[in-house]
Amino acid sequence: MAADYYGLLKIRRDATQDEVKRAYRRLARELHPDVNPDPETQERFKEITQAYEVLSDPEKRRMYDMGVDPFASSAAAGASPFGQGFNPLNDLLDQFFGAAGGGTATRGPRTRAQRGRNATIRIELDLSECSFGATRELTVDTAVVCPTCSGEGTAPGTHPQTCDICGGRGEVSQVTRSFIGQVMMARVCPGCGGFGTVLVRPCPECDGDGRVRTRRTIKVRIPAGVEDGTHIQLAGEGEVGPGGGPPGDLFLEIVQRPHEIFERQGDDLHCTVTIPMVAAALGATLSVESLDGPADVDIRPGSQSGQVIPLYGQGVKHLNGNGRGDLVIHVTVETPTKLDAEQEKLLRELAKLRGEEAPPGRFAPGQQGFFSRLRDAFNGR
Ligand SMILES: [Zn+2]
Ligand SMILES: [Zn+2]
Repeated sequence: MAADYYGLLKIRRDATQDEVKRAYRRLARELHPDVNPDPETQERFKEITQAYEVLSDPEKRRMYDMGVDPFASSAAAGASPFGQGFNPLNDLLDQFFGAAGGGTATRGPRTRAQRGRNATIRIELDLSECSFGATRELTVDTAVVCPTCSGEGTAPGTHPQTCDICGGRGEVSQVTRSFIGQVMMARVCPGCGGFGTVLVRPCPECDGDGRVRTRRTIKVRIPAGVEDGTHIQLAGEGEVGPGGGPPGDLFLEIVQRPHEIFERQGDDLHCTVTIPMVAAALGATLSVESLDGPADVDIRPGSQSGQVIPLYGQGVKHLNGNGRGDLVIHVTVETPTKLDAEQEKLLRELAKLRGEEAPPGRFAPGQQGFFSRLRDAFNGR
């Protein structure tokens, strides 16, 4: 993650689009290079513009919230994620302050080809698949380059024609008066929408969009160690952009189904095993379920409720690494709730042998047993 865009714009993460816009406008007025030409302010201006570019676009904002910074990835990939010819800074300057004709604005016509949107698919996996990895065949509805026009958007044998209104520049100029004198304003050409060309005869198959919708199947390998909420980025597996632009990315969002026995905490698994009182006292060997099948666990004589027994390396595989988490068994000792006469007699004999004071019978109200002493203590006697 390159930058805290919400922090830069001084807004909350749940800010509405309107609030994003207002925050940006306010800061942009304050930091605009015309007002504050010093390099530090200009740098900040660029930062908030970048933040606005991401947060004002619902799709990019969603990506950013998922932990993908469109600007960071573009730097890594060495290509603009928004398609060629797209300059967020210039576009925003134009939007808010108007481009000064004859000044520094040097943009030509926009290209029709734009990067395709990203897509997200949720995949449900059980705990074992999350731990050891899985392979899935996915059928995705997506858009591919139109086979008839190869993305150009024009009918076979024809090509886009230069726009008559702007002469191919994609913008038209207009002179207006302002408080600093006459200003030449450049506006997006209404004839071609800024493309500089018009599609006189759009492609009949894609209606000029340069892409067609289709359904295709892809096989994906999900690595071992993923967990609920993990996002896997499949670069270039999203849909192709308008005008045959480069494809967006496909994100797989992992949903881990709850397990009936194990609770996952990081890469450790926790489960509870209930053992009878006598087994806890005498010790026993239990067979417990693990991700690798049944495992023998030694309960040592004298085990207590709340004791934990770790099975090292029997948890979930670490993502992008070697080794595994642990399986942690929490022991609960079960005290019998119903005793028949013989069992009660045996336990009383045991108590006598151990020199433990056994009450003569069941606790009765008023009897000077443990509970009544406790009650007295509460009543301050
Ligand atoms: Zn076409
Ligand atoms: Zn035009």
